[in-house]
Amino acid sequence: MNHTTLTFYGGLRTIGGTVISLQYDDSRIIFDFGFVYSPENNIFDRQIKPRKNSVVKDYLKLGLIPSIDGVYNKEDLPEHSSIIPADTYTGNTTVLISHLHLDHMGAMGLINPSVPVYMTEDSLHLYQTLDVIGEGVQGNRGYSSCKYNQPFTVGKITITPIQVDHDVLGACAFHIQTPDGAILYTGDLRMHGAHPERIQAFIQKAKEIGFDAVIMEGTTLSSEEELAEEMLVAKKELPEDLVTETMIPVKMTEVLKETKGIGIFNIYHRNIDRIRGVLQAGIETGRKVVLEAGTAQIALNHLGAQNFLVFESEEIRQSPVPEWQSQLFDKTSTISYKQINQNPGQYFVQNSYDHSLELFDLNVENGVYLHSNGVPLGSFDPAYHNLERVLQNIGLERVSIGTGGHAIPQNLSYIVEELDPATLIPLHSFHPERLQPKNGMQLLPQYGKTYLLTEGKIGEK
Ligand SMILES: [Zn+2]
Ligand SMILES: [Zn+2]
Repeated sequence: MNHTTLTFYGGLRTIGGTVISLQYDDSRIIFDFGFVYSPENNIFDRQIKPRKNSVVKDYLKLGLIPSIDGVYNKEDLPEHSSIIPADTYTGNTTVLISHLHLDHMGAMGLINPSVPVYMTEDSLHLYQTLDVIGEGVQGNRGYSSCKYNQPFTVGKITITPIQVDHDVLGACAFHIQTPDGAILYTGDLRMHGAHPERIQAFIQKAKEIGFDAVIMEGTTLSSEEELAEEMLVAKKELPEDLVTETMIPVKMTEVLKETKGIGIFNIYHRNIDRIRGVLQAGIETGRKVVLEAGTAQIALNHLGAQNFLVFESEEIRQSPVPEWQSQLFDKTSTISYKQINQNPGQYFVQNSYDHSLELFDLNVENGVYLHSNGVPLGSFDPAYHNLERVLQNIGLERVSIGTGGHAIPQNLSYIVEELDPATLIPLHSFHPERLQPKNGMQLLPQYGKTYLLTEGKIGEK
């Protein structure tokens, strides 16, 4: 008898690393294929060297990627592994990637090339740029694209990507329909981004198609001691003190206007809205925005923006640069720290954590460092203390102007209330149990158990 099964491989009580498989007949989809986000527990401490020829074996051993049949290359698996390699697996598998954060896509390059990996067109375009600038994932394979609101099928499973708003270009939710029922997987999302209307449209669209269960992220949920019950009361409105994505350039402008010296910023450049915000703050304050080459490439490809300079240090000038970078330098104007130092107060200069030592060459007197969700994200990351050491060393004040990519608890409750699913499966959270459905039932799945979807209901097999 045909039926739909659901298996959860990762991401139930962690931030990211969500890997779920849904199977009907001989067709299976696996959604998201990234690593758990946990910089404090990162085995790769820069002393242990990753072994390039043994990535799948080592990652399986470390529990960084799931032990899952039909996904990996035979030659990548351990010799007597019980995991069935992709080439001998009889079913038909497709992997879906909701967005390009490492906790959702970091391991997708390790999937056998015969298994299609789908992401939205926006995501694929961004991925192509990331690959060019050296931020592609490990592994060599191709990727396929899908369009928002355009269903496609894998066997008898129909998938509809629905755009959401998150702090990365191209993020989507997936509506997954099988003959036994429909599941809505939200991916990551927020209501305080630059495009809240996308969340309303997402809710609308999902209700229109209909679904039985919602698999929902709950990143911002915390324990009862840390998060009072009333903070979970569903609210569409944002609290007044919540910084929204659109407020970031305003806040940056305020600080920069008070600053005589150089303005430095540290962002995560997969968030296109943040790059746009930085460029806007530059216009508002009459400062020239100076981008690092990788970010400049993204701004050029995905914003069509040209109103920036590209940072070119003495070191970059004297060493051979990759082809994309020399092409970028041809297309844009570059600037060195020496030129910036002639009048630092006229500039708003990007500095990512890995380039922290470049700060030593800049005149940072009376300057400010605007930390705007670039890594390291917080004191839980050991790298955070290193950043503080560098800034202390040069006497540069750090001001945090940022906002998260995940819906705040009352907005999560609002989305759940609006969707009102018969079954709610919260995950991608340290406290998924705190997200309750209005009328339906809450399911907190367990690893290794298989769940059955029959006539729209989910139960243990
Ligand atoms: Zn995530
Ligand atoms: Zn994300």
